[in-house]
Amino acid sequence: MKPFLDGLSQCLGPAGLVTDPAEMAPHLTDWRRMFSGPALAVLRPGSTDQVSAAVRLCAQHGVAIVPQGGNTGLAGGATPMGTGPQVVLSLARMTAIGTPDPIGMVVEVQAGAILQRVKEVAAGCGRQLPISLAAEGSATIGGVISTNAGGLNVLRYGMARDFALGLEVVLPDGTVANGLKPLRKDNAGFDWKHLFIGSEGAFGIVTAAVLRLTPATRHRSVALLSVQDLPAAIRLLGLFQDRIGETLSAFELISAEAMRLVETRCGLACPVADGAWFLLVEVASSLDGLAGAMEATLEAAFGAGLVQDGTLAASEQQAQSLWALREHVTEAESRCGKSLKHDVSLPLRRMEAFLDSVRARLAELAPAARLNIFGHLGDGNLHVNVILGETPPAGASGITAMVHDLIAEAGGSISAEHGLGQYRLDEWCRLTPRTGRDLAIGIKRAIDPNCLMNPGKAIPVFSPPK
Ligand SMILES: Cc1cc2nc3c(=O)[nH]c(=O)nc-3n(C[C@H](O)[C@H](O)[C@H](O)COP(=O)(O)OP(=O)(O)OC[C@H]3O[C@@H](n4cnc5c(N)ncnc54)[C@H](O)[C@@H]3O)c2cc1C
Repeated sequence: MKPFLDGLSQCLGPAGLVTDPAEMAPHLTDWRRMFSGPALAVLRPGSTDQVSAAVRLCAQHGVAIVPQGGNTGLAGGATPMGTGPQVVLSLARMTAIGTPDPIGMVVEVQAGAILQRVKEVAAGCGRQLPISLAAEGSATIGGVISTNAGGLNVLRYGMARDFALGLEVVLPDGTVANGLKPLRKDNAGFDWKHLFIGSEGAFGIVTAAVLRLTPATRHRSVALLSVQDLPAAIRLLGLFQDRIGETLSAFELISAEAMRLVETRCGLACPVADGAWFLLVEVASSLDGLAGAMEATLEAAFGAGLVQDGTLAASEQQAQSLWALREHVTEAESRCGKSLKHDVSLPLRRMEAFLDSVRARLAELAPAARLNIFGHLGDGNLHVNVILGETPPAGASGITAMVHDLIAEAGGSISAEHGLGQYRLDEWCRLTPRTGRDLAIGIKRAIDPNCLMNPGKAIPVFSPPK
Protein backbone atom coordinates (compact mmCIF):
# COMPACT_ATOMS: atom_id res chain seq x y z
CA MET A 1 0.00 0.00 0.00
CA LYS A 2 3.01 2.35 0.11
CA PRO A 3 2.62 3.57 -3.53
CA PHE A 4 -1.07 4.25 -2.74
CA LEU A 5 -0.30 6.30 0.38
CA ASP A 6 2.54 8.12 -1.41
CA GLY A 7 0.15 9.02 -4.22
CA LEU A 8 -2.39 10.32 -1.70
CA SER A 9 0.26 12.34 0.06
CA GLN A 10 1.21 13.93 -3.25
CA CYS A 11 -2.31 14.88 -4.26
CA LEU A 12 -3.62 15.94 -0.82
CA GLY A 13 -0.53 17.47 0.81
CA PRO A 14 0.39 17.13 4.51
CA ALA A 15 -2.87 18.68 5.78
CA GLY A 16 -4.92 16.26 3.73
CA LEU A 17 -3.59 12.87 4.83
CA VAL A 18 -3.75 11.43 8.34
CA THR A 19 -2.07 8.12 9.13
CA ASP A 20 -1.21 8.67 12.78
CA PRO A 21 -3.32 6.13 14.75
CA ALA A 22 -4.14 8.57 17.57
CA GLU A 23 -5.32 11.23 15.11
CA MET A 24 -7.29 8.68 13.11
CA ALA A 25 -9.01 7.13 16.13
CA PRO A 26 -12.01 9.52 16.45
CA HIS A 27 -12.84 8.90 12.78
CA LEU A 28 -12.94 5.12 13.23
CA THR A 29 -15.73 4.94 15.84
CA ASP A 30 -19.27 6.24 15.60
CA TRP A 31 -20.94 8.81 17.85
CA ARG A 32 -22.71 6.20 20.01
CA ARG A 33 -19.58 4.00 20.14
CA MET A 34 -21.53 1.05 18.78
CA PHE A 35 -19.31 0.52 15.74
CA SER A 36 -15.64 0.77 14.93
CA GLY A 37 -13.41 -0.48 12.14
CA PRO A 38 -9.94 -0.09 10.62
CA ALA A 39 -8.84 2.23 7.82
CA LEU A 40 -5.57 2.68 5.94
CA ALA A 41 -5.78 6.46 6.40
CA VAL A 42 -8.12 9.38 6.93
CA LEU A 43 -8.21 11.70 3.90
CA ARG A 44 -8.99 15.37 4.46
CA PRO A 45 -9.20 16.97 1.00
CA GLY A 46 -9.46 20.75 0.84
CA SER A 47 -11.29 21.07 -2.51
CA THR A 48 -13.51 19.21 -4.95
CA ASP A 49 -10.50 18.69 -7.24
CA GLN A 50 -8.65 17.03 -4.39
CA VAL A 51 -11.66 14.80 -3.61
CA SER A 52 -11.75 13.82 -7.28
CA ALA A 53 -8.01 13.06 -7.42
CA ALA A 54 -8.16 11.02 -4.20
CA VAL A 55 -11.17 9.03 -5.41
CA ARG A 56 -9.39 8.26 -8.72
CA LEU A 57 -6.39 6.96 -6.80
CA CYS A 58 -8.62 4.81 -4.56
CA ALA A 59 -10.32 3.39 -7.67
CA GLN A 60 -6.93 2.55 -9.25
CA HIS A 61 -5.83 0.69 -6.11
CA GLY A 62 -9.18 -0.95 -5.33
CA VAL A 63 -9.50 0.84 -1.99
CA ALA A 64 -13.03 1.53 -0.73
CA ILE A 65 -14.06 4.95 0.60
CA VAL A 66 -16.15 5.76 3.66
CA PRO A 67 -17.35 9.38 3.41
CA GLN A 68 -17.58 11.19 6.74
CA GLY A 69 -19.02 14.53 7.79
CA GLY A 70 -19.51 15.38 11.46
CA ASN A 71 -19.69 11.67 12.41
CA THR A 72 -22.97 12.20 14.30
CA GLY A 73 -24.92 9.63 12.28
CA LEU A 74 -26.83 7.10 14.36
CA ALA A 75 -26.55 4.09 12.03
CA GLY A 76 -22.78 3.49 11.76
CA GLY A 77 -22.80 4.72 8.14
CA ALA A 78 -19.62 6.80 8.50
CA THR A 79 -17.60 4.07 10.25
CA PRO A 80 -15.38 1.66 8.27
CA MET A 81 -16.33 -2.02 8.51
CA GLY A 82 -13.05 -3.79 7.84
CA THR A 83 -14.41 -5.55 4.73
CA GLY A 84 -11.30 -5.08 2.56
CA PRO A 85 -8.97 -2.07 2.39
CA GLN A 86 -10.78 1.19 3.18
CA VAL A 87 -10.06 4.87 3.81
CA VAL A 88 -12.25 7.41 5.59
CA LEU A 89 -12.74 10.56 3.50
CA SER A 90 -13.59 13.45 5.81
CA LEU A 91 -15.09 16.65 4.41
CA ALA A 92 -13.98 18.57 7.53
CA ARG A 93 -11.80 21.03 5.58
CA MET A 94 -14.44 21.92 3.00
CA THR A 95 -16.51 24.35 5.05
CA ALA A 96 -17.01 27.39 2.81
CA ILE A 97 -20.42 29.08 2.93
CA GLY A 98 -21.34 31.44 0.10
CA THR A 99 -23.21 34.72 0.52
CA PRO A 100 -26.93 33.89 0.70
CA ASP A 101 -29.24 35.38 -1.91
CA PRO A 102 -32.05 36.67 0.33
CA ILE A 103 -34.52 37.30 -2.47
CA GLY A 104 -33.82 34.15 -4.47
CA MET A 105 -33.68 32.53 -0.99
CA VAL A 106 -30.74 30.21 -1.68
CA VAL A 107 -27.23 29.67 -0.40
CA GLU A 108 -24.37 27.61 -1.83
CA VAL A 109 -22.17 25.74 0.63
CA GLN A 110 -19.40 23.17 0.65
CA ALA A 111 -20.36 19.78 2.05
CA GLY A 112 -18.26 20.06 5.23
CA ALA A 113 -20.05 23.24 6.39
CA ILE A 114 -21.60 22.71 9.82
CA LEU A 115 -25.40 22.89 9.82
CA GLN A 116 -25.54 25.36 12.73
CA ARG A 117 -23.09 27.71 11.00
CA VAL A 118 -25.14 27.68 7.78
CA LYS A 119 -28.26 28.47 9.85
CA GLU A 120 -26.45 31.39 11.47
CA VAL A 121 -25.36 32.77 8.10
CA ALA A 122 -28.92 32.46 6.74
CA ALA A 123 -30.29 34.18 9.87
CA GLY A 124 -27.78 36.99 9.32
CA CYS A 125 -29.66 37.97 6.17
CA GLY A 126 -33.15 37.47 7.58
CA ARG A 127 -33.73 33.99 6.19
CA GLN A 128 -33.70 30.54 7.76
CA LEU A 129 -32.65 26.99 7.06
CA PRO A 130 -35.25 25.19 9.16
CA ILE A 131 -33.49 21.85 9.67
CA SER A 132 -33.22 21.50 13.45
CA LEU A 133 -31.33 18.62 15.06
CA ALA A 134 -29.76 18.24 18.49
CA ALA A 135 -26.54 17.40 16.60
CA GLU A 136 -26.56 20.56 14.46
CA GLY A 137 -23.41 21.94 16.10
CA SER A 138 -21.41 19.07 14.56
CA ALA A 139 -23.49 17.61 11.70
CA THR A 140 -22.41 18.77 8.22
CA ILE A 141 -24.50 19.68 5.21
CA GLY A 142 -23.01 16.69 3.32
CA GLY A 143 -24.07 14.35 6.13
CA VAL A 144 -27.50 15.94 6.46
CA ILE A 145 -28.11 15.50 2.73
CA SER A 146 -26.65 12.00 2.60
CA THR A 147 -28.90 10.84 5.45
CA ASN A 148 -31.87 12.96 4.27
CA ALA A 149 -32.02 14.18 7.87
CA GLY A 150 -35.30 15.27 9.42
CA GLY A 151 -35.48 16.87 12.85
CA LEU A 152 -38.03 18.95 14.68
CA ASN A 153 -39.65 20.91 11.84
CA VAL A 154 -40.34 18.24 9.21
CA LEU A 155 -44.08 18.64 9.77
CA ARG A 156 -43.90 22.12 8.28
CA TYR A 157 -40.86 22.18 6.04
CA GLY A 158 -40.03 18.60 5.06
CA MET A 159 -36.76 16.65 5.22
CA ALA A 160 -33.29 17.60 3.91
CA ARG A 161 -34.39 16.47 0.42
CA ASP A 162 -36.77 19.41 0.35
CA PHE A 163 -33.90 21.88 0.81
CA ALA A 164 -31.32 20.48 -1.63
CA LEU A 165 -31.92 22.37 -4.87
CA GLY A 166 -28.64 21.38 -6.50
CA LEU A 167 -25.66 19.15 -5.70
CA GLU A 168 -22.08 18.71 -6.78
CA VAL A 169 -20.90 15.12 -6.33
CA VAL A 170 -17.79 13.11 -7.02
CA LEU A 171 -18.66 9.76 -8.60
CA PRO A 172 -16.90 6.47 -7.72
CA ASP A 173 -14.43 6.83 -10.64
CA GLY A 174 -13.50 10.39 -9.63
CA THR A 175 -15.67 12.21 -12.19
CA VAL A 176 -17.21 15.43 -10.87
CA ALA A 177 -20.93 15.85 -11.59
CA ASN A 178 -21.82 19.52 -11.20
CA GLY A 179 -25.51 20.18 -10.63
CA LEU A 180 -25.14 23.32 -8.49
CA LYS A 181 -28.21 25.08 -9.89
CA PRO A 182 -30.29 27.34 -7.64
CA LEU A 183 -33.50 26.32 -9.43
CA ARG A 184 -36.81 25.57 -7.74
CA LYS A 185 -38.21 24.34 -11.02
CA ASP A 186 -36.20 22.07 -13.28
CA ASN A 187 -38.04 19.26 -15.00
CA ALA A 188 -35.51 18.95 -17.80
CA GLY A 189 -35.41 15.17 -17.58
CA PHE A 190 -34.22 12.89 -14.79
CA ASP A 191 -33.15 14.73 -11.63
CA TRP A 192 -30.10 12.69 -10.61
CA LYS A 193 -29.44 14.58 -7.39
CA HIS A 194 -32.13 12.48 -5.67
CA LEU A 195 -29.93 9.39 -6.00
CA PHE A 196 -27.43 10.97 -3.65
CA ILE A 197 -29.90 12.31 -1.08
CA GLY A 198 -30.45 9.78 1.70
CA SER A 199 -28.22 7.11 0.14
CA GLU A 200 -25.58 7.43 2.91
CA GLY A 201 -22.58 7.81 0.61
CA ALA A 202 -23.29 4.59 -1.31
CA PHE A 203 -23.21 6.25 -4.76
CA GLY A 204 -20.68 9.08 -4.45
CA ILE A 205 -19.38 11.95 -2.36
CA VAL A 206 -21.42 15.12 -2.01
CA THR A 207 -18.93 18.00 -2.19
CA ALA A 208 -21.24 21.04 -2.37
CA ALA A 209 -24.91 21.96 -2.38
CA VAL A 210 -27.27 24.79 -3.20
CA LEU A 211 -29.82 24.98 -0.38
CA ARG A 212 -33.29 26.49 -0.37
CA LEU A 213 -33.92 28.98 2.43
CA THR A 214 -37.26 30.11 3.87
CA PRO A 215 -38.49 33.40 5.31
CA ALA A 216 -37.49 33.81 8.96
CA THR A 217 -40.21 33.12 11.52
CA ARG A 218 -39.68 35.91 14.06
CA HIS A 219 -42.59 35.06 16.33
CA ARG A 220 -43.39 31.78 17.99
CA SER A 221 -45.89 30.48 20.50
CA VAL A 222 -45.26 27.28 22.44
CA ALA A 223 -47.67 25.21 24.54
CA LEU A 224 -47.37 22.03 26.58
CA LEU A 225 -50.61 20.03 26.80
CA SER A 226 -51.63 16.75 28.35
CA VAL A 227 -54.19 14.39 26.81
CA GLN A 228 -55.82 11.23 28.06
CA ASP A 229 -55.04 8.96 25.12
CA LEU A 230 -53.46 8.75 21.67
CA PRO A 231 -56.71 9.23 19.69
CA ALA A 232 -57.15 12.56 21.54
CA ALA A 233 -53.58 13.55 20.59
CA ILE A 234 -54.26 12.77 16.93
CA ARG A 235 -57.58 14.63 16.93
CA LEU A 236 -55.79 17.58 18.49
CA LEU A 237 -53.27 17.53 15.64
CA GLY A 238 -56.21 17.66 13.22
CA LEU A 239 -57.70 20.61 15.09
CA PHE A 240 -54.42 22.57 14.89
CA GLN A 241 -54.13 21.75 11.19
CA ASP A 242 -57.69 22.96 10.60
CA ARG A 243 -57.26 26.25 12.44
CA ILE A 244 -53.61 27.35 12.15
CA GLY A 245 -52.04 24.56 10.10
CA GLU A 246 -49.69 26.68 8.00
CA THR A 247 -47.97 27.99 11.16
CA LEU A 248 -47.67 24.60 12.88
CA SER A 249 -43.92 23.97 13.20
CA ALA A 250 -43.68 21.17 15.75
CA PHE A 251 -46.12 18.71 17.29
CA GLU A 252 -44.05 16.56 19.60
CA LEU A 253 -45.32 13.58 21.60
CA ILE A 254 -43.95 12.59 25.01
CA SER A 255 -45.36 9.65 26.98
CA ALA A 256 -46.18 10.13 30.66
CA GLU A 257 -43.41 7.60 31.48
CA ALA A 258 -40.88 9.62 29.46
CA MET A 259 -41.93 12.84 31.23
CA ARG A 260 -41.48 11.11 34.62
CA LEU A 261 -37.94 10.12 33.61
CA VAL A 262 -37.11 13.72 32.64
CA GLU A 263 -38.34 14.89 36.05
CA THR A 264 -36.65 12.21 38.14
CA ARG A 265 -33.40 11.75 36.18
CA CYS A 266 -32.77 15.30 34.97
CA GLY A 267 -34.45 17.29 37.75
CA LEU A 268 -36.73 19.32 35.44
CA ALA A 269 -40.29 20.11 36.55
CA CYS A 270 -43.27 19.54 34.25
CA PRO A 271 -45.79 22.38 34.81
CA VAL A 272 -48.76 20.42 33.43
CA ALA A 273 -50.91 17.83 35.24
CA ASP A 274 -50.49 14.27 34.06
CA GLY A 275 -52.31 12.65 31.18
CA ALA A 276 -51.28 9.48 29.36
CA TRP A 277 -49.42 11.67 26.85
CA PHE A 278 -47.96 15.17 26.64
CA LEU A 279 -47.78 17.27 23.50
CA LEU A 280 -45.33 20.06 22.87
CA VAL A 281 -46.87 22.30 20.22
CA GLU A 282 -45.07 25.15 18.49
CA VAL A 283 -46.55 27.58 15.98
CA ALA A 284 -44.33 30.16 14.31
CA SER A 285 -44.71 32.93 11.77
CA SER A 286 -43.02 35.97 10.27
CA LEU A 287 -46.23 37.87 11.15
CA ASP A 288 -47.06 39.12 14.64
CA GLY A 289 -50.39 38.26 16.29
CA LEU A 290 -49.71 34.56 16.58
CA ALA A 291 -50.37 34.37 20.32
CA GLY A 292 -54.05 35.29 19.81
CA ALA A 293 -54.49 32.56 17.18
CA MET A 294 -52.81 30.04 19.48
CA GLU A 295 -55.03 31.02 22.43
CA ALA A 296 -58.18 30.68 20.31
CA THR A 297 -57.07 27.26 19.11
CA LEU A 298 -56.34 26.11 22.67
CA GLU A 299 -59.75 27.35 23.79
CA ALA A 300 -61.34 25.29 21.04
CA ALA A 301 -59.25 22.26 22.07
CA PHE A 302 -60.31 22.55 25.73
CA GLY A 303 -63.89 23.18 24.61
CA ALA A 304 -63.87 19.98 22.55
CA GLY A 305 -62.64 18.05 25.60
CA LEU A 306 -59.41 17.02 23.85
CA VAL A 307 -57.01 18.46 26.40
CA GLN A 308 -56.75 17.57 30.09
CA ASP A 309 -54.35 20.30 31.18
CA GLY A 310 -51.96 22.70 29.52
CA THR A 311 -49.79 25.76 29.70
CA LEU A 312 -48.96 28.41 27.12
CA ALA A 313 -45.49 29.96 27.32
CA ALA A 314 -45.78 33.65 28.18
CA SER A 315 -42.20 34.49 27.24
CA GLU A 316 -39.32 33.18 25.13
CA GLN A 317 -37.69 31.95 28.35
CA GLN A 318 -40.78 29.90 29.22
CA ALA A 319 -40.89 28.55 25.67
CA GLN A 320 -37.30 27.36 26.08
CA SER A 321 -38.14 25.70 29.43
CA LEU A 322 -40.99 23.78 27.80
CA TRP A 323 -38.71 22.71 24.93
CA ALA A 324 -36.07 21.62 27.48
CA LEU A 325 -38.49 18.95 28.74
CA ARG A 326 -38.66 17.42 25.25
CA GLU A 327 -34.95 17.85 24.61
CA HIS A 328 -33.99 16.01 27.82
CA VAL A 329 -35.91 12.79 27.09
CA THR A 330 -32.90 11.08 25.47
CA GLU A 331 -30.57 12.27 28.23
CA ALA A 332 -32.98 10.97 30.91
CA GLU A 333 -33.13 7.61 29.14
CA SER A 334 -29.34 7.34 28.97
CA ARG A 335 -29.23 7.71 32.78
CA CYS A 336 -31.29 4.52 33.16
CA GLY A 337 -28.64 2.15 31.78
CA LYS A 338 -28.79 0.29 28.48
CA SER A 339 -31.65 0.76 26.06
CA LEU A 340 -32.73 -0.41 22.63
CA LYS A 341 -33.64 2.37 20.22
CA HIS A 342 -36.20 2.09 17.44
CA ASP A 343 -36.73 5.08 15.15
CA VAL A 344 -39.91 4.12 13.32
CA SER A 345 -42.68 5.76 11.36
CA LEU A 346 -46.17 4.60 10.48
CA PRO A 347 -49.55 5.95 9.40
CA LEU A 348 -51.23 7.83 12.26
CA ARG A 349 -54.38 5.71 11.99
CA ARG A 350 -52.33 2.55 12.78
CA MET A 351 -50.41 4.04 15.70
CA GLU A 352 -52.64 3.14 18.63
CA ALA A 353 -53.03 -0.52 17.62
CA PHE A 354 -49.28 -0.72 16.97
CA LEU A 355 -48.41 0.62 20.43
CA ASP A 356 -50.96 -1.68 22.12
CA SER A 357 -49.34 -4.66 20.37
CA VAL A 358 -45.82 -3.52 21.35
CA ARG A 359 -46.88 -3.21 24.99
CA ALA A 360 -48.55 -6.64 25.01
CA ARG A 361 -45.67 -8.40 23.24
CA LEU A 362 -43.04 -6.73 25.42
CA ALA A 363 -44.88 -7.86 28.57
CA GLU A 364 -44.64 -11.46 27.32
CA LEU A 365 -41.09 -11.26 25.95
CA ALA A 366 -39.22 -9.21 28.56
CA PRO A 367 -41.53 -8.11 31.39
CA ALA A 368 -38.67 -6.35 33.21
CA ALA A 369 -38.00 -4.00 30.26
CA ARG A 370 -39.65 -0.54 30.20
CA LEU A 371 -40.91 1.43 27.24
CA ASN A 372 -39.79 5.01 26.67
CA ILE A 373 -41.87 6.47 23.86
CA PHE A 374 -41.63 9.93 22.36
CA GLY A 375 -41.40 11.37 18.89
CA HIS A 376 -42.55 13.72 16.18
CA LEU A 377 -46.29 12.89 16.14
CA GLY A 378 -46.95 15.32 13.31
CA ASP A 379 -44.63 13.23 11.10
CA GLY A 380 -45.90 9.83 12.27
CA ASN A 381 -42.37 9.28 13.66
CA LEU A 382 -42.03 7.51 17.01
CA HIS A 383 -38.98 6.66 19.04
CA VAL A 384 -40.04 3.34 20.54
CA ASN A 385 -37.14 2.89 22.92
CA VAL A 386 -36.91 0.06 25.41
CA ILE A 387 -34.99 0.60 28.65
CA LEU A 388 -33.15 -2.55 29.70
CA GLY A 389 -31.28 -1.21 32.74
CA GLU A 390 -27.71 -2.16 33.61
CA THR A 391 -28.22 -5.88 32.93
CA PRO A 392 -30.39 -6.73 29.91
CA PRO A 393 -33.33 -8.87 31.08
CA ALA A 394 -34.17 -12.29 29.62
CA GLY A 395 -35.90 -11.94 26.27
CA ALA A 396 -34.14 -8.67 25.38
CA SER A 397 -32.54 -10.14 22.25
CA GLY A 398 -35.94 -10.61 20.60
CA ILE A 399 -37.24 -7.09 21.20
CA THR A 400 -35.96 -5.30 18.08
CA ALA A 401 -37.27 -7.96 15.69
CA MET A 402 -40.62 -7.84 17.51
CA VAL A 403 -40.91 -4.04 17.14
CA HIS A 404 -39.85 -4.16 13.50
CA ASP A 405 -42.25 -7.01 12.66
CA LEU A 406 -45.11 -4.99 14.10
CA ILE A 407 -43.98 -1.92 12.14
CA ALA A 408 -43.91 -3.96 8.93
CA GLU A 409 -47.45 -5.23 9.67
CA ALA A 410 -48.57 -1.62 10.20
CA GLY A 411 -47.15 -0.52 6.84
CA GLY A 412 -44.45 1.61 8.50
CA SER A 413 -40.70 2.13 8.19
CA ILE A 414 -37.99 0.72 10.49
CA SER A 415 -35.91 3.88 9.97
CA ALA A 416 -37.84 7.12 9.88
CA GLU A 417 -34.85 9.47 10.04
CA HIS A 418 -31.55 7.83 10.83
CA GLY A 419 -30.97 5.73 7.71
CA LEU A 420 -29.77 2.13 7.64
CA GLY A 421 -25.99 2.44 7.67
CA GLN A 422 -24.57 -0.84 8.95
CA TYR A 423 -26.93 -0.80 11.96
CA ARG A 424 -30.28 -1.53 10.33
CA LEU A 425 -29.22 -3.11 7.03
CA ASP A 426 -29.92 -6.72 8.08
CA GLU A 427 -33.36 -5.82 9.36
CA TRP A 428 -34.12 -3.89 6.17
CA CYS A 429 -33.10 -6.94 4.10
CA ARG A 430 -35.26 -9.20 6.28
CA LEU A 431 -38.35 -7.03 5.94
CA THR A 432 -38.09 -5.48 2.46
CA PRO A 433 -39.76 -7.24 -0.45
CA ARG A 434 -37.36 -8.64 -3.03
CA THR A 435 -38.31 -6.14 -5.75
CA GLY A 436 -37.27 -3.20 -3.56
CA ARG A 437 -33.99 -4.86 -2.60
CA ASP A 438 -33.15 -5.83 -6.20
CA LEU A 439 -33.88 -2.31 -7.41
CA ALA A 440 -31.48 -0.78 -4.86
CA ILE A 441 -28.78 -3.39 -5.61
CA GLY A 442 -29.17 -2.89 -9.39
CA ILE A 443 -28.71 0.89 -9.10
CA LYS A 444 -25.68 0.42 -6.82
CA ARG A 445 -24.06 -2.00 -9.30
CA ALA A 446 -24.68 0.39 -12.21
CA ILE A 447 -23.19 3.47 -10.52
CA ASP A 448 -20.48 1.81 -8.44
CA PRO A 449 -19.60 -1.44 -10.27
CA ASN A 450 -16.44 -2.00 -8.23
CA CYS A 451 -18.26 -1.39 -4.95
CA LEU A 452 -15.84 1.24 -3.69
CA MET A 453 -18.34 3.71 -2.22
CA ASN A 454 -19.19 2.93 1.39
CA PRO A 455 -19.62 -0.84 0.89
CA GLY A 456 -22.13 -2.57 3.17
CA LYS A 457 -23.94 0.64 4.10
CA ALA A 458 -27.54 1.41 3.17
CA ILE A 459 -27.53 -1.15 0.34
CA PRO A 460 -26.61 -4.83 0.83
CA VAL A 461 -23.62 -4.85 -1.54
CA PHE A 462 -20.24 -5.59 0.03
CA SER A 463 -18.02 -6.41 -2.97
CA PRO A 464 -17.97 -6.35 -6.80
CA PRO A 465 -19.82 -9.21 -8.54
CA LYS A 466 -17.64 -12.36 -8.84
C1 LIG B 1 -27.78 14.03 19.47
C2 LIG B 1 -28.19 13.67 18.06
C3 LIG B 1 -29.43 14.05 17.60
C4 LIG B 1 -29.83 13.73 16.30
N1 LIG B 1 -31.06 14.12 15.88
C5 LIG B 1 -31.45 13.82 14.63
C6 LIG B 1 -32.74 14.21 14.17
O1 LIG B 1 -33.52 14.81 14.89
N2 LIG B 1 -33.08 13.90 12.90
C7 LIG B 1 -32.23 13.22 12.07
O2 LIG B 1 -32.59 12.97 10.91
N3 LIG B 1 -31.01 12.84 12.48
C8 LIG B 1 -30.61 13.11 13.72
N4 LIG B 1 -29.37 12.70 14.16
C9 LIG B 1 -28.50 11.93 13.26
C10 LIG B 1 -27.41 12.78 12.56
O3 LIG B 1 -27.16 13.96 13.22
C11 LIG B 1 -27.83 13.10 11.15
O4 LIG B 1 -27.97 11.89 10.45
C12 LIG B 1 -26.84 14.00 10.40
O5 LIG B 1 -27.43 14.30 9.18
C13 LIG B 1 -25.49 13.36 10.15
O6 LIG B 1 -24.59 14.36 9.66
P1 LIG B 1 -23.01 14.13 9.78
O7 LIG B 1 -22.33 15.22 9.05
O8 LIG B 1 -22.62 13.93 11.19
O9 LIG B 1 -22.85 12.77 8.95
P2 LIG B 1 -21.95 11.51 9.30
O10 LIG B 1 -22.39 10.88 10.56
O11 LIG B 1 -20.53 11.83 9.16
O12 LIG B 1 -22.38 10.54 8.09
C14 LIG B 1 -23.68 10.03 7.98
C15 LIG B 1 -23.80 9.22 6.68
O13 LIG B 1 -23.67 10.09 5.56
C16 LIG B 1 -22.51 9.75 4.78
N5 LIG B 1 -21.89 11.03 4.40
C17 LIG B 1 -21.47 12.03 5.23
N6 LIG B 1 -21.02 13.06 4.50
C18 LIG B 1 -21.13 12.70 3.21
C19 LIG B 1 -20.81 13.34 1.98
N7 LIG B 1 -20.31 14.58 1.95
N8 LIG B 1 -21.05 12.67 0.83
C20 LIG B 1 -21.58 11.43 0.85
N9 LIG B 1 -21.89 10.78 1.97
C21 LIG B 1 -21.67 11.41 3.14
C22 LIG B 1 -21.66 8.88 5.66
O14 LIG B 1 -20.88 7.98 4.92
C23 LIG B 1 -22.72 8.18 6.50
O15 LIG B 1 -23.24 7.10 5.78
C24 LIG B 1 -28.96 13.00 15.46
C25 LIG B 1 -27.70 12.62 15.93
C26 LIG B 1 -27.32 12.95 17.21
C27 LIG B 1 -25.96 12.53 17.68
